[in-house]
Amino acid sequence: MKHHKVIVWFRNDLRLHDHAALFYACENAEEVVPVYCFDPRHFAPTFLGLPKTGSFRAKFLWESVNALKRSLIQIKSNLILLVGHPEIEIPKLGKSINAKSIYFSQEVTDEEIKVEKALEEKAWSEGIGTESYWQHTLYHLDDLPFPVNQTPEVFTQFRKVCEKMSEIRPTLPFPKIPVFQEKKLANTDLPCKSQFGIEEENLSSKAVLAFKGGELEGQKRLNHYFWTTNALKSYKETRNGLLGENYSSKFSPWLALGCLSPRFVYQEVVRYEKERHKNQSTYWLIFELIWRDYFRFICKKHGNKVFQIQGIKNQLGDWERNEAVFENWKNGLTGVPFVDANMRELNQTGFMSNRGRQIVASFLVNDLNIDWTWGAQYFECKLIDYDVCSNWGNWMYVGGVGNDPRENRYFNILRQGKNYDKEGEYVRTWVPELQKIKGFEIHNPHELDKQALKQNGISKLENQYPSPLVSFKRWL
Ligand SMILES: Cc1cc2nc3c(=O)[nH]c(=O)nc-3n(C[C@H](O)[C@H](O)[C@H](O)COP(=O)(O)OP(=O)(O)OC[C@H]3O[C@@H](n4cnc5c(N)ncnc54)[C@H](O)[C@@H]3O)c2cc1C
Repeated sequence: MKHHKVIVWFRNDLRLHDHAALFYACENAEEVVPVYCFDPRHFAPTFLGLPKTGSFRAKFLWESVNALKRSLIQIKSNLILLVGHPEIEIPKLGKSINAKSIYFSQEVTDEEIKVEKALEEKAWSEGIGTESYWQHTLYHLDDLPFPVNQTPEVFTQFRKVCEKMSEIRPTLPFPKIPVFQEKKLANTDLPCKSQFGIEEENLSSKAVLAFKGGELEGQKRLNHYFWTTNALKSYKETRNGLLGENYSSKFSPWLALGCLSPRFVYQEVVRYEKERHKNQSTYWLIFELIWRDYFRFICKKHGNKVFQIQGIKNQLGDWERNEAVFENWKNGLTGVPFVDANMRELNQTGFMSNRGRQIVASFLVNDLNIDWTWGAQYFECKLIDYDVCSNWGNWMYVGGVGNDPRENRYFNILRQGKNYDKEGEYVRTWVPELQKIKGFEIHNPHELDKQALKQNGISKLENQYPSPLVSFKRWL
């Protein structure tokens, strides 16, 4: 028998396609009430004093919620917008409209689980049922060939066993959403960002992409990357790039907020392989999505350890907490051009390439010896594509307390420059003080200051660019 009324609580799953909670609500209910709740805790300062959500991600979130609301209105539904703690506001709404149940997607990390549990308790005390659904990953939790608490620690093992023994489920069909009856209740206005202390920030004109939130925008990006430009065909060769919109897919912000379903991306890769090309690049995009799955299952397995300095290796380490040095890293003023260029790109756009993330994280951890959790927190604030599992999982990995089978994954910054920014074009883009310096020498202005600059008639870097925080000798 169908329930009369079910609330669907949208979280990091801001889409209509392949959405388990929405799909089953539509199967089980005569009336479906979609709700999103802006939780002030998501915008509050963390222990470093940084807002948990910076302005670029907040903008993307607002756009995504707004887009979801518009899509729902188009099919004669709507999206109720609440502000407050979901565990209080949603059961309260449920009671007021006499809902029978609340459906939502499961998360895996502590803060989110606490909210889920509190919401369930409150709902049950009001006589409202709850149903939660696994979402977010390519491989469904129930299809893993091992219990999640035995997830292999090493990525390659995880990937191989999943690829061999598990199947990726097809996407769920687009649901037929019952007409929304609660019109008089529907607060359809998005709250003002400033209410949460979020300040508008201008996107740099040098940004790789003007990311715009929402399901349709995510699908547009996929169409562009796969079908219009055929960029997928050469993904494996270009994915370590630094400049331009197509060196990698840039799907991450839409995946993080659930505007794109990873299974939909997978399905499109398979279609591309049938209709256009199948090669190492097409596989490699799936390979990267499996990394994403892996960090989510590792977080589910290890709980709060992923946020702790000793990580899942239980290794305390001898970290420094030098605020002045950390400030320089944050602001792209370390005097190491490749690091500074990446940090400035992050600060001015909310995005950084995967190569850049590896480099700046390794530099903070291995060269400056700063507490890796500080870096993770900074990224949490700044990244437009922040995903709790991918961010903390990757940082733990770089911090040497994760599950990297290789000890000391250290990046020689000059070698990285040589391999990935040979002509220095990337550094010149983001570090204007160094614009006059040509070619690879830009990666080592320290050396350059002494030698090449004089030949070029420029005796020093006009004191605009800071002296390096570490000696370049270690990379020579
Ligand atoms: C220190 C550090 C922090 C990171 N923080 C985040 C984060 O908060 N959110 C996030 O989505 N990614 C994070 N990554 C992973 C990766 O850098 C980004 O997913 C990628 O750069 C996003 O660009 P793209 O969508 O063009 O990626 P593509 O290269 O096109 O990859 C396709 C998709 O695969 C997934 N993916 C790729 N690489 C990884 C990886 N190493 N780990 C997990 N998933 C991956 C992403 O969902 C990505 O969108 C982090 C990496 C590092 C080293």
